[in-house]
Amino acid sequence: MTKEEDVMSMFCFQCEQTAKGTGCMTNGVCGKSSDSAHLQDALTGEMIGLAQVSGGVSPGKSADKAVIDGLFSTVTNVCFDEEAIWHRIGAVKAEKEKLEAAGAFYDMAGLWEANEDIRSLKSLLLFGMRGMAAYAHHAYILGKSDEIVDNFFFKGLSAIGEEKTADALLALITELGDVNLKCMELLDAANTEAYGDPVPTAVSRNVEPGPFIVISGHDLHDLKLLLEQTKDKGVNIYTHSEMLPAHGYPALKKYPHLKGNFGTAWQNQQKEFENIPAPILFTTNCIMPVKPGYADRVFTTSVVSYPEMAHIGDEKDFTPVIEKAISLGGYKEERKMTGINGGGTLTTGFARNAVLSVADTVIDAVKSGAIRHFFLVGGCDGAKTGRNYYTKFVKQTPEDTVILTLACGKYRFNDLDVGEIGGLPRIMDMGQCNDAYSAIKVAVALSGAFNCSVNELPLTLVLSWYEQKAVCILLTLLSLGIRNIYIGPSLPAFISPNILNVLVEKFNLTPISTPEDDLKKILG
Ligand code: SF4
Repeated sequence: MTKEEDVMSMFCFQCEQTAKGTGCMTNGVCGKSSDSAHLQDALTGEMIGLAQVSGGVSPGKSADKAVIDGLFSTVTNVCFDEEAIWHRIGAVKAEKEKLEAAGAFYDMAGLWEANEDIRSLKSLLLFGMRGMAAYAHHAYILGKSDEIVDNFFFKGLSAIGEEKTADALLALITELGDVNLKCMELLDAANTEAYGDPVPTAVSRNVEPGPFIVISGHDLHDLKLLLEQTKDKGVNIYTHSEMLPAHGYPALKKYPHLKGNFGTAWQNQQKEFENIPAPILFTTNCIMPVKPGYADRVFTTSVVSYPEMAHIGDEKDFTPVIEKAISLGGYKEERKMTGINGGGTLTTGFARNAVLSVADTVIDAVKSGAIRHFFLVGGCDGAKTGRNYYTKFVKQTPEDTVILTLACGKYRFNDLDVGEIGGLPRIMDMGQCNDAYSAIKVAVALSGAFNCSVNELPLTLVLSWYEQKAVCILLTLLSLGIRNIYIGPSLPAFISPNILNVLVEKFNLTPISTPEDDLKKILG
């Protein structure tokens, strides 16, 4: 074994917190072990093999499910459990056996050791598909799927295992951006048909006395089932992190025991869950390495899995979670919590319908000069200290500007009271990361109203990324031709200098600098 092989026992560079900004090579900064990383590579290699023998198109529904769940389970902070990954590998192998191609497999070393630019483009494709798989999974759970989306997973995976030129890969990446828009539209339809259009809603940050459950992640279907199963049981439900936008949906907010939101963004969970007198249910990412102070009260479900934590299976019987809540008993007195800036304000539910229902007010405010500029400040949150850029940026935005936000990056500033314009709050939370679809609809409607392109609107996107769902959303924005996006807190390690040049030249993708300089550049 060479010295290099000796220290490089795994390779992963798919998220923003990757070691030294270049790649995790011994253990994941996220807590992923090298054994899990190898298994996730094996799972990906199995899926590429399946896609290749399927000719780059879906061979059927069960294969779609195996691939969507397989890709989703490799997203950062989703599955740390080797047994669960073996289970996913088994599901993909079973699909290959149906095609009498059990041996089809791609060795991921072929990707990690490829020419820097090809590796960069294929990584963009793979990580973008991992992100899109999360959205496809949530839509699928609610009975929605789309042939174009399902087929693309096979087309994209197959391409990763093939010799491709940079131009061919760039074309596939653009196509992925288009297909992901369709996938987000699918999930938007699934959510709004099941739970209604979100409405602006104030959400309490305080926890009432008595038994409660904290539910984290994106899966509104799991939340709905939990609300049903806890009805009239004296157990309150609090959302956490990306589940916050659930409060805006009429069919979820109608439950009186859906009380409020617990804590802040995902990266603070180890501190905020310490000795919590309640169970926590993780429905999707982001789960962090579980600390002893709450390990006996963590439950996972769906594709989320962590060694030795109780897992709720597909039957979705949450009885063990409910019993745990009752035995722990909750707080004796009301517990007051604040956001990271000490504020108590928290609202959500400004999805496309809510914003477009006041479109006339917004358009008049722009025409009269009351609104000078819109910022979409959103994306993932994370642990890096440089992420206070987003708090400072919002604090420094002038009073005649509006901040649309989505995903958990909003926890950097969603407790700030920055006032109103014309009766509308200056900060409007549009929802989860997939609600980027709502933001796109609003931008397109505004461009129609002002008879200009989206790039000509007084609108700037200031995004933060952490994991792979952000990658597919960025690809969608670029495929729509949206330019001048600011991105931080750092650039992805998997973007090579040459590929970055392409993105800068074509889209003027701009790394964030300081809030002062960026605001000056944007507003002049
Ligand atoms: Fe490292 Fe991120 Fe991969 Fe975890 S997901 S191993 S932190 S690059």
